[in-house]
Amino acid sequence: MLGLLNDTLSPVDQCGCGDTGFLTSRTLPIALNHGAGKVINVPVYSCGSSMCDEYRIPSAVASRLDELAEEMEAKEVLSIVFSWKTSGEDDTIGYQDSLIQGFIWKFHRRSYEDAQVLFVINGDALVLQSKLDPSEYYILKRLEESKDGIFFSFSKFIEEDEELTYEKYIELEPSFQKELGTVKMEEVEDMLIEEFGEVCD
Ligand SMILES: [Zn+2]
Repeated sequence: MLGLLNDTLSPVDQCGCGDTGFLTSRTLPIALNHGAGKVINVPVYSCGSSMCDEYRIPSAVASRLDELAEEMEAKEVLSIVFSWKTSGEDDTIGYQDSLIQGFIWKFHRRSYEDAQVLFVINGDALVLQSKLDPSEYYILKRLEESKDGIFFSFSKFIEEDEELTYEKYIELEPSFQKELGTVKMEEVEDMLIEEFGEVCD
């Protein structure tokens, strides 16, 4: 039953503040009979705004947290990594995809000093357009998973059409495309700021 639920954990839902929330993972405090404990890597929805410290726990996760609390009390531990199963085997795979998609959706419509996110493709890629030269586009695309983590390729392409849409993009064969590098998921935020300047509203 839980297996079924965790597969359907949506990458995008609602943050505790009411805005759109993106699936991410957090360490949450948990009250236990034997003290204040914590659960690491709990999937939650957060809008990702620096102004907001709220989040929302998906209901399947909330009921799993209750079970984990009992487990922690039985074992008298104060810290545990969130998992769907009691056996302790690594089962992050079930919602890993949703976590990555939630991460990418968070960039939807984001604007940097020098570029703007035009659209997100299936939670796997995002296309940006330069504000300095509107014929310059950039694409950040999720790569096959490797043992070392989640990586994205970052490329630049030139397209005469300055009003690119998703529909046009999928038909597109850019005349010029250059891969600029590969970036680890944890470094994507910093890399985009380095490349395009601060985030603006
Ligand atoms: Zn929020």
